[in-house]
Amino acid sequence: MSDVLSTDVVIVGGGLGGLSAARHLQEKGIDVVVLEHHTKPGGYAHYFRAGGYRFEVALHALDGLGRGGWARPMFDTLGILDKVEFNRLDPFYTVAFPDFEMSAPTDVDEYIERFGDIFPDERDGVTALFDAIRRVGHDVGQFTADRRSGIRVDMGQMLERYPDMATAFASPWSTFLAEYIESAEARALVTTLWGYLGLPSSKLSAGQFALTLLSYHTAGAWYPTGGSGAMSFAIMEAIVEAGGEVHLRNTVTSIVPEGPNRVTVTTDRGLVVEAKAVVSNASPRATAALLPEDVVTSEWLGEIEGDRPALSTMTVHLGVAADLAADGWNHHEYFAMSGYDFDAEYEAILAGDFTNVGMIVSNYSVVDPRCAPEGKSVIVLTVLAPWNHHDVWGTGGDLEDYGNNPEYLATKEAAGRILIDRAKRLIPGLEGAIEVVKIATPLTNARYMMQPQGSIYGREHSVANMMNRRRPTTPVPNLFLAGAWIGGGGMTAAVGSGQTAAGAAARYLENVSA
Ligand SMILES: Cc1cc2nc3c(=O)[nH]c(=O)nc-3n(C[C@H](O)[C@H](O)[C@H](O)COP(=O)(O)OP(=O)(O)OC[C@H]3O[C@@H](n4cnc5c(N)ncnc54)[C@H](O)[C@@H]3O)c2cc1C
Repeated sequence: MSDVLSTDVVIVGGGLGGLSAARHLQEKGIDVVVLEHHTKPGGYAHYFRAGGYRFEVALHALDGLGRGGWARPMFDTLGILDKVEFNRLDPFYTVAFPDFEMSAPTDVDEYIERFGDIFPDERDGVTALFDAIRRVGHDVGQFTADRRSGIRVDMGQMLERYPDMATAFASPWSTFLAEYIESAEARALVTTLWGYLGLPSSKLSAGQFALTLLSYHTAGAWYPTGGSGAMSFAIMEAIVEAGGEVHLRNTVTSIVPEGPNRVTVTTDRGLVVEAKAVVSNASPRATAALLPEDVVTSEWLGEIEGDRPALSTMTVHLGVAADLAADGWNHHEYFAMSGYDFDAEYEAILAGDFTNVGMIVSNYSVVDPRCAPEGKSVIVLTVLAPWNHHDVWGTGGDLEDYGNNPEYLATKEAAGRILIDRAKRLIPGLEGAIEVVKIATPLTNARYMMQPQGSIYGREHSVANMMNRRRPTTPVPNLFLAGAWIGGGGMTAAVGSGQTAAGAAARYLENVSA
């Protein structure tokens, strides 16, 4: 017999988008039940253990968390600022190009200074670039404040009222950057973080990338003690403390709207939740597949099916029986760049050529030493990765029990070996000290996070997509969406999308009961 629960809002998926929606709804006095497919909360924001090590699944650096940062008030609402220790990364990262290396300070003025030391002829340019980026941030702040106070301007007036935001969001990063920086090497240096958004300069929204740089370099780059999983567990606890319920290992199999403030959600374990509204943290496509066909309009379906998933990642998690930080490898985040042409790299990624692409080497033991046993280290190697490498990673597209498919295992291990060999050439002491190897591919991301094509950022951060964001509302009046597909990729953006979805759901419930 099924269990039946009753609540105000049921949340499908307990990634950061869903958990954030739950906490923001609770703050408005609305009861919630969260249903999560995985054994842990957080979606990508979690960890796994192997061989005595605790491995971060995703997070390298959170943005926007410093005092005055855009994400800080939301994290306050999540109820975790005093429960989780957030460590400021400084330097934020080290980047090595074929001809030079830079340790990038988090503070924007120090960053400009260091950049100018490497490229003296570009010092004025990079100063002007960050001035322009600040102006974009200022316009976005104005736009947000206007919206909150009910001021909405049409597209024609955007350029007049928010000139820097409108210009940046209408351009690719390559065009925006070309106004300020001359040389290909200097352009590449200031674009080091392109992998954090998953598209190269010629395709990437300048507005979105400008905001990313601004957020990290003004409100800091952060990594929590205990990893992103510590954050997710703390949010889950805050939800439960406030009277909500979180049910893990419950995959939602149907969402059936039954009226303006009635919806029934069922899971594979027979749990049934009756609610007034639903917020889905599953991708829009996956959400549509859970609904009865007659409530899904062809217009909405056309829109969401046309959304290209952003790239995925391949990660190689290494348990290393040596204290690499003590031996000199003390970078939390190290970008090993293979060249200066990121468009060419993007093509190499799509072709599954992991030799000639930028690789991030993260030593999590630097900032979170308890992730490894005493005297040992956790190293994670990350590259952006396509879904369709060697015909969907050796499976030919047959994902049934793919983890035991020898072709998949061979394709995964061959790709992983390339990264490990690259890392051995970089890190003194790595050779001979590796005792645990765990490799995650886009298929792993798709399996655990249920994300189409293992996308890690929802839809692509292209100029067109960032100009025309998906809304949290859907053709079903009491169904709302949260997560990277709506708010943009990244953990703080996912938290932001949860806040937005919660606001939309709360307004709806207020109107419907009025
Ligand atoms: C290797 C890697 C590195 C990254 N580095 C960073 C970084 O440094 N900084 C940063 O900000 N971001 C980073 N990201 C990106 C960031 O992790 C994601 O963009 C963000 O966490 C997405 O959150 P989300 O809530 O949209 O989706 P998800 O985390 O995918 O959560 C969706 C949740 O919904 C659940 N779900 C789906 N369908 C169902 C269903 N039917 N029933 C029940 N549950 C369901 C899933 O199990 C999942 O828990 C990284 C990602 C990866 C993979």
